[in-house]
Amino acid sequence: LIELRDVRKSFRQGDLEFEVLRGIDLTVEKGEFVAIMGPSGSGKSTLMYIIGCLDRPTSGSYRLNGVDVLSLNDDKLSKLRATHIGFVFQAFYLVPYLTVLDNTLLPVEYLPKEERKERFRGTSPAERAKELLTRLGMRERLHFKPEELSGGQKQRTAIARALINSPEIILADEPTGQLDSKSGKAVMEVFKELHREGKTVIVVTHDEKIASYAERIVKIQDGKIVES
Ligand code: ATP
Ligand code: MG
Repeated sequence: LIELRDVRKSFRQGDLEFEVLRGIDLTVEKGEFVAIMGPSGSGKSTLMYIIGCLDRPTSGSYRLNGVDVLSLNDDKLSKLRATHIGFVFQAFYLVPYLTVLDNTLLPVEYLPKEERKERFRGTSPAERAKELLTRLGMRERLHFKPEELSGGQKQRTAIARALINSPEIILADEPTGQLDSKSGKAVMEVFKELHREGKTVIVVTHDEKIASYAERIVKIQDGKIVES
């Protein structure tokens, strides 16, 4: 499903060029639950952005369901992302002036029209959003703004947003990093359940306990995978 081959990523800083990912080979099968671990600065977020089609590598190849992702233009890439990938960020990135419900609905706009019909057959985006938020314990908070929520509630809103288009892949970059251990566990239980439903889940974490929810742990150091 997800196939990265010799993926490299460099950033220029003035005259200097830093190679942050230095030849990543990674295959994640459909339905796997993988944790990515590694020291700060090792390239985990950079890798997740590439897997999530939010960024492109400097070189190497990336196939998603057999599609050569890097050959797509930005518009096609954005549609591919909206259709296949739900991304949960450590810092939530909710839109401050939108309610929980409207934040959850944001990705719907990015789905191609035909796909929108397909994905919301027999329901509507608002209905699906309410269902998801109810399931995540947010039913009483639909019309709250992010600033009126706790960290755990913000993250659950972000998870609902990641799920609204029914993507088969969920990527989460330190989703529990800003949460107390109880909310962190609750969030991981949600990912476990999504995995049981057949979704592919990839979670970046520093925390061994959080990583133990996954079936497989990939360790990355200095831009290379050192253990899988
Ligand atoms: P952390 O655990 O602290 O989140 P990480 O493993 O996610 O770390 P990355 O965010 O992937 O690490 O960053 C890896 C390296 O790439 C860092 O040294 C960082 O400074 C550099 N880097 C990341 N994004 C950029 C950018 N847009 N421009 C320049 N350098 C960048
Ligand atoms: Mg990071």
